[in-house]
Amino acid sequence: MKIQSIEISEIQIPLVTPFRTALRTVEAVDDIVIRVVSDDGQVGYGEAPPTAVITGDTKGSIVAAIRDFIAPTLIGREVDDMDGLMQALHGSILKNTSAKAAVDMALYDLYAKSLGKPLYKVLGGARAQVETDLTISVGPIDEMVKDSLAAVAEGYRVLKIKVGKEGLADVERIKAIREAVGEDITIRVDANQGWNAKEAVRIISAMEDLNLNIDLVEQPVKAHDLAGMQYVTSRVYTPILADESVFSAEDAIRIIQMGAADLINIKLMKTGGIYEALKICSIAEIYGVQCMMGCMLESKLAVSAGAHLAAARGVITRADLDGPGLCKEDPYEGGPVYHAGLIQMNETPGLGITKVPCFNS
Ligand code: MG
Repeated sequence: MKIQSIEISEIQIPLVTPFRTALRTVEAVDDIVIRVVSDDGQVGYGEAPPTAVITGDTKGSIVAAIRDFIAPTLIGREVDDMDGLMQALHGSILKNTSAKAAVDMALYDLYAKSLGKPLYKVLGGARAQVETDLTISVGPIDEMVKDSLAAVAEGYRVLKIKVGKEGLADVERIKAIREAVGEDITIRVDANQGWNAKEAVRIISAMEDLNLNIDLVEQPVKAHDLAGMQYVTSRVYTPILADESVFSAEDAIRIIQMGAADLINIKLMKTGGIYEALKICSIAEIYGVQCMMGCMLESKLAVSAGAHLAAARGVITRADLDGPGLCKEDPYEGGPVYHAGLIQMNETPGLGITKVPCFNS
């Protein structure tokens, strides 16, 4: 069974409400989707969002990386030889992690299908269900409270609140949301690099003094400011989660050894796919550090690849896989079922996605 072709297309899905963070505002999922076809007619699907402000990847760069560098090195290779495929994929071009992630997940999809098993079972099979949080975009306090209450009414038990734009005023946001949703809801806070180190310590300490019971604070300071991450991590009780600071397995080792975070957020678009993400899982296991499985603004296809990894590995104790929950519609057939924060894994082969609208035949 050899790889015959890699086809590239696009998908657009409107969001329920605009996605706002300290870094950007987005109105719709507008992603590259791909299909890897084998010579016996099997297909594997992949997706990559152009998250230029985080990964540097644009739609144009994703298409060019796959078409001009990745596809020529993979076509004609055996699907069974996953190790060889992964070496070829990662050796084909530097960086371009989103393009690599799309191809990596399509290859894993194809591989698991060739074994007749759901991907999460091929990767370890820890559990068949994953609980995700839902992101609440940054905005006026009353709007954030309203969005939080709506999410809880829908059945979500974990909320991830975007902050990082207004310093100490962010504490008021979290306080208002905590008072509105009550004590039983888990609240995570994502500053998206919006604070400096001293400011972060002041804000997080204020939240601790108010007993707001925050599960974790994600990426308080700039991605490259590891000294700042270490400063914050060592001065607050609340666990600090490294997101933009950790792309690769090498980054994970550095962050853990420096004590620059308590937790690591793994995203396939940062690692370049499942193969590299598994290395971070192993490193985290060695050091006894827990991971979160996150996603960019992705639709159900790419998010499901992350969900399969999260379901497979016990070291991934938290999930932020709310892409499908933010989309107005689900254009795919098959795959895991997403309902009010619970992701029920498919027992069908591979990622489980059986139809992607732009690939009809
Ligand atoms: Mg984040």
